[in-house]
Amino acid sequence: MLRLLAFLLLFILVVPLIRVLIGAAARALTDFLGKGGSRPRPEIGGKLHRDPVCGVYVSEQSAVKRVKGGETLYFCSEDCARKHGQTMGNS
Ligand SMILES: [Zn+2]
Repeated sequence: MLRLLAFLLLFILVVPLIRVLIGAAARALTDFLGKGGSRPRPEIGGKLHRDPVCGVYVSEQSAVKRVKGGETLYFCSEDCARKHGQTMGNS
């Protein structure tokens, strides 16, 4: 009977300890997942396209677009779009 009481006492002491440990583990996991989620992404605004003039990758949203022969070209700046137009000859 004394053994059972001791066991109960131990159980009562151990349960909060386990809870604390689980809480710490959960917090660590949340931290880990949170860090993983906030990792900087290469681009926020959609697909990336290569500027054919300078070779820089630009997002669809921020790119300077030019349609040539039914094909959309993406440039990093008006400057590159103009340069491309010059190298292409007449546009
Ligand atoms: Zn460019």
